[in-house]
Amino acid sequence: NDTSDEDCDYLFKTILIGDSSVGKSNLLSRFAKDEFYLDSKPTIGVEFAYRNTKVGEKIVKAQIWDTAGQERFRAITSSYYRGALGAMLVYDITRNGTFESIKKWLHQLREFGDDDMVIVLVGNKSDLVDLREVDTEDGKKLAEIEKLCFMETSAKENLNVEDAFLQMITKIYEIAG
Ligand code: GDP
Ligand code: MG
Repeated sequence: NDTSDEDCDYLFKTILIGDSSVGKSNLLSRFAKDEFYLDSKPTIGVEFAYRNTKVGEKIVKAQIWDTAGQERFRAITSSYYRGALGAMLVYDITRNGTFESIKKWLHQLREFGDDDMVIVLVGNKSDLVDLREVDTEDGKKLAEIEKLCFMETSAKENLNVEDAFLQMITKIYEIAG
């Protein structure tokens, strides 16, 4: 049973945040079910999904929360952040505005989230090379300044998605495990 917490050693709550349409739901469906959707359907978004991974000898179940479209109404509440040990902070490399928003999201994270939360900055849609507006270097630089992990991903082409989630989960394990 994929949703019981009896078959794992640790259960970590993690969250996805970032502007609308950056690819949060598709990163989640790619990681949890290896599925990708061309259409964005925020209204039928799931609240969260699970995936088990092995870290060393231990089985870690990541419970990954999705905003389900609430980011459009600035309606993400403190309960979304509560108890989260990790956050994936996502922007779209083809839209500079979503990168500019990262500071706002970081501010919220630090206001509502735990102090030692593991944060991974993710530049998604790396497959859209011709439409790129945000340089890899700029993502890297911001991550360095804010002391975040950093990775560029493509949920569509399944590039680095696994790595980004595993990096977050492994780091949480090192801190909280
Ligand atoms: P959310 O609002 O942040 O949850 O974004 P969605 O996951 O709903 O994705 C928004 C749109 O971007 C959808 O049309 C997806 O198919 C598309 N999308 C998501 N990830 C990628 C990606 O890595 N590459 C490309 N080319 N499109 C993507
Ligand atoms: Mg979504």
